[in-house]
Amino acid sequence: MRLTEDARDLFLPAACASCRSTPAAGTGLCADCAADLLALRPVLATPARRTAPPVVAGGPYAGALAEALNEYKERGRRELAPALGALLGRALAVVAAEVPDAVLVPVPATRAARRARGFDHVDHACAGLGELHRVLRARARPDSVGLTPEQRAAAARASLHAAPRRLAALAASGRPAILVDDIVTTGATLDAAAAVLRRAGVAVPAAVVVAAALVGRKGFMWRYRRVPLRVSAIRQAPKRHFGR
Ligand SMILES: [Zn+2]
Repeated sequence: MRLTEDARDLFLPAACASCRSTPAAGTGLCADCAADLLALRPVLATPARRTAPPVVAGGPYAGALAEALNEYKERGRRELAPALGALLGRALAVVAAEVPDAVLVPVPATRAARRARGFDHVDHACAGLGELHRVLRARARPDSVGLTPEQRAAAARASLHAAPRRLAALAASGRPAILVDDIVTTGATLDAAAAVLRRAGVAVPAAVVVAAALVGRKGFMWRYRRVPLRVSAIRQAPKRHFGR
């Protein structure tokens, strides 16, 4: 099957990553699906996990966005980076005015995932969005599918760690960090990433992601709030998130 798909990719123009029925423009999307992504507005996803930072997503993980994100990650379609990065940029605009001196800290892929894709998908989507500080590293972790929320949280904590000198330099700068990831589901990864930074004294007022998945599992009920592109969304988030 995989061979057939690869062969198809060689001989046919790439289909739209979302609907797969129309040839894509250079963006990886057809005009209709590109318009669907453009029509999305950021959503505020409030994790039940109290220590996790508030998360602003470019849109819900559904429809054209879910399809595009999957193709980007699983089939290495790098040409989708600008479209997905634009959604990250909108989410970032919601939080950036609140913490203007913040730096972006991407959640890293594991080395194996990076090698399999041929690029770091979060880094790549962040191009042009701001100053990236790659202070986190990820050890291999089990596939989160099928894990309980507690197991996910433990796996995330065991996987994420700091590049010590880089983290020390960030902490010494006194600047807060906005975490960046592709998708948030239970919030376990962002919670673990924030914990690494906060332990070093770096404030983590918020996180931005391309898409937020709505999961209703016990203990991890997310509340979506559609937010305008204004900082009021973050002002409504619990105050403690702006400290450590
Ligand atoms: Zn399409």
